[in-house]
Amino acid sequence: MGDQTHEIIIVGGGAIGLSIARALALRGVNDVCLLERASLGTEASYAAAGMLAPQAEADSRDEFFDLLCQSRDMYPDFAFALKEETGVDIELNETGTLYLAFDEHDQKEIDARYDWQTRAGLPVEKLTSADASLLEPNIAPNVSGALRFPKDIQVENRRLLNALVNSASQLNVTLRTGVNVEGVQVEKNRVSGVRTSEEILDSRTVILATGTWTSLIHPTIRIEPVRGQMVCLNSKPQMSRHVIYSPRGYIVPRQDGRLLAGSTSETAGFVKEVTVDGVTSILRSATEICPAVKFLPVIDLWAGLRPKAPDGLPVLGPYGEIDGLIYATGHYRNGILLAPITGELIAKTIVQDSLQPALAPFSPDRFSPLAVS
Ligand SMILES: Cc1cc2nc3c(=O)[nH]c(=O)nc-3n(C[C@H](O)[C@H](O)[C@H](O)COP(=O)(O)OP(=O)(O)OC[C@H]3O[C@@H](n4cnc5c(N)ncnc54)[C@H](O)[C@@H]3O)c2cc1C
Repeated sequence: MGDQTHEIIIVGGGAIGLSIARALALRGVNDVCLLERASLGTEASYAAAGMLAPQAEADSRDEFFDLLCQSRDMYPDFAFALKEETGVDIELNETGTLYLAFDEHDQKEIDARYDWQTRAGLPVEKLTSADASLLEPNIAPNVSGALRFPKDIQVENRRLLNALVNSASQLNVTLRTGVNVEGVQVEKNRVSGVRTSEEILDSRTVILATGTWTSLIHPTIRIEPVRGQMVCLNSKPQMSRHVIYSPRGYIVPRQDGRLLAGSTSETAGFVKEVTVDGVTSILRSATEICPAVKFLPVIDLWAGLRPKAPDGLPVLGPYGEIDGLIYATGHYRNGILLAPITGELIAKTIVQDSLQPALAPFSPDRFSPLAVS
């Protein structure tokens, strides 16, 4: 027997763990305990840019794309509910996303994207460079064309984390910080709890929402850190209204005048350093999008670790070999976007004791040595 028993234990207090905690509590689960080794919402979920943009970079439609779009489309109600519950405005900005082309190669890429998405009936607009400059006067004069994705939007992810923490705590979720989970306790192929640095906590349901550190607790599935650096500028008045991408980077305007410029995609272990090379490449892409960016003051720099599974897809749902062990990790570049749907689908799977069909393609069991490909 451990020191305490909980109905459900969630390990990890990022956007994913917090969203699941809230969704479980809203469904009437009384005893949810979330364990976070540092402070709540300070890792990848804090480092992110908050773009909710599945269409902007997608080159085809599959189950993953559909999951991303469904989660994006949950955001207006999610934002409204969080505001009602907590008073926190998560600054959902529904202006949309622009994707710029600068040369023939970029233009081919956006033309192909426009073609398949139009055929699939998705909302996307093709703009000439003149149209794009009318919408966003600060973009570079050498833009050759652009796409506008009116449904690809953005959220202030740090406010989202505040709102989720407030909501979960109002719903009586036990939120424990400074608790490092060292391992999952298993008895006869069934989870019995977790082992922390100080105690054993019992539970018949354990959810691993530990982002890029998941393999350190349960090494069966390799989740690797992919570092992303970010540069934060001060832009008053704001440089753009839309989130603006090029194939090489993006800028994200925040309500308070911060302009985020991102990012890098690097294999650098668990080291969250900001490097000269990273910052240089980010600022080169940002000034390519809006040349006037070069006059803005840099006010902050940071890096975060995106959790990536071997196939780059999220790892969601019960782990077949151990009853009661549930994965909610591997969200890689889309954990903010996927927070609402991950919370809903994992909570429903547990409360209804039946796997939600939308989770099937993302099962942790796809990595089992016995899985048929
Ligand atoms: C630069 C950058 C830009 C990004 N931009 C976007 C974007 O625009 N849109 C988007 O959707 N996504 C974006 N992402 C990706 C997104 O940030 C992640 O997919 C998402 O934050 C993952 O959420 P998480 O809760 O799984 O992980 P995290 O936020 O990393 O949370 C995991 C938590 O688990 C805790 N933990 C780990 N191990 C233990 C342990 N043993 N015991 C207790 N606690 C533990 C950690 O301390 C951490 O708080 C970006 C990421 C980066 C780095």
